[in-house]
Amino acid sequence: MTQSFAELGLAAELVRAVAEEGYTVPTPVQAQSIPFILAGRDVLAGAQTGTGKTAGFTLPMLQLLSRHAHHGGRHAVRALVLTPTRELAAQVEESVRTYGRHMTLRSTLVYGGVGFQAQADALKHGVDVLVATPGRLLDHAGQKTVNLSHVEILVLDEADRMLDMGFIHDIRKVLALLPKRRQNLLFSATFSDEIRQLAGGLLNDPAYVQVAPPNAESALVTQRIHPVDQGRKRALLAHLVRTGDWHQVLVFTRTKHGANRLAEQLCKDGIEATAIHGNKSQNARTRALADFKSGELRVLVATDLAARGLDIEQLPHVVNYELPNVPEQYVHRIGRTGRAGVTGEALSLVSPDEYPYLADIEKLLRRKLEREVVPGFEPGSVPPSGEAQPQPRGPAPRPQGRPRGATAPQRTARQPRRDQPRPERIRDARPAPRPAHEQRASGGDAERQPASNATALFPSSGAVYGHGGRADQRGARPASRERRREVPALLGGATRRGS
Ligand code: AMP
Repeated sequence: MTQSFAELGLAAELVRAVAEEGYTVPTPVQAQSIPFILAGRDVLAGAQTGTGKTAGFTLPMLQLLSRHAHHGGRHAVRALVLTPTRELAAQVEESVRTYGRHMTLRSTLVYGGVGFQAQADALKHGVDVLVATPGRLLDHAGQKTVNLSHVEILVLDEADRMLDMGFIHDIRKVLALLPKRRQNLLFSATFSDEIRQLAGGLLNDPAYVQVAPPNAESALVTQRIHPVDQGRKRALLAHLVRTGDWHQVLVFTRTKHGANRLAEQLCKDGIEATAIHGNKSQNARTRALADFKSGELRVLVATDLAARGLDIEQLPHVVNYELPNVPEQYVHRIGRTGRAGVTGEALSLVSPDEYPYLADIEKLLRRKLEREVVPGFEPGSVPPSGEAQPQPRGPAPRPQGRPRGATAPQRTARQPRRDQPRPERIRDARPAPRPAHEQRASGGDAERQPASNATALFPSSGAVYGHGGRADQRGARPASRERRREVPALLGGATRRGS
């Protein structure tokens, strides 16, 4: 039986905030974890990006914190969320603000590579929620600009990625700074021996939560790269739409301006297109979405943020007009197609200046994506292609703009396919994370690069919400699959246990 957010025991302020986000029904991980967390239990959850896990821990955490006011201790933190990357930290903190908008709780964000002092200032009078990456958090602890001795709730988000990134020692140092009595929530997509060990030492009589079993649907997305020169992208897109007889295609651009311009140009080319982004009124966006769903509008051009909450059941075609500079975003984007058992196609128009982004994406996916040069749109140079090489564990240097690996077949023929998508949330995270390529250059503490973070992005569940990540599982290494299989064993095969 499907429960509502209110039936899960959430307070009216939170129910209102999720309704404003356009969420009508809790996702499985939310339905399972929220009651346990509200009951004060430790929780071990097997859930990956795209399942709605962030709201799964954020909503009950906010409710527990709202039960009494901040004690106002200098530098004190009441709930600490540790994440592996800046991007995730920023996303989680944005969620805290979004879901907590009708409450008066304070939150802030701490990660490396950006100024220290502003973060120290934000921590000065204490916060209810601190979202942090481990290295910078330890810097603050060392400088006594944060006090972790009053933490009531600890969340380890994407714990497997944190371990893959070599954060175990930092995590242990952070744990040593926390009070003994606290509530612990551990979210992980996969369960290695290391995670079990960490969970064993951390969690006290945990309730187990696991989202739906593996679902073959997530392999239904065909991904392809079309190498093309920047100046020919629009013509190629128009060509693909026409020759493929596409009637519903979501196109991603990196900027609002780019989205507007592309939509205008497509209209001039005779292809009905509209841009949606944060500068457009809610009415305009609702109308565009309705037209898109009804088939009146062939192409919807969107920025990542605008596309987040798009409520469309199935989407046959997703096109990356520009590759995102944060590789995880690619996975979020392509997760918009291939839903509900219907096949989908995710194509990326990649110009030579974007090859480094492509290399980053393929590194995350641990495989090479198929290249297909469309006749008549041959670029000056083609991105290197081949079989993905498994990445070694531990921090790895960023590839110098060229992926590793041998040569993969180049296709020149294309096989158009037909088939079909979700409200929007637009809210700025405060200090914007720097683009991935800048972060990598910085090296250092919390910004160490994931060398093998793909496990978290090869979901074991087919249910993917919003911008959720879903990658083609075919490329996952056997090790990842084995680790996934361990989850039910760890969780006793049950989807829900405990009181
Ligand atoms: P997460 O797995 O936490 O990264 O969430 C993935 C996406 O799902 C985010 O874009 C959320 O905004 C969205 N989301 C979270 N909960 C729900 C829900 N109950 N219904 C629809 N979308 C949701």
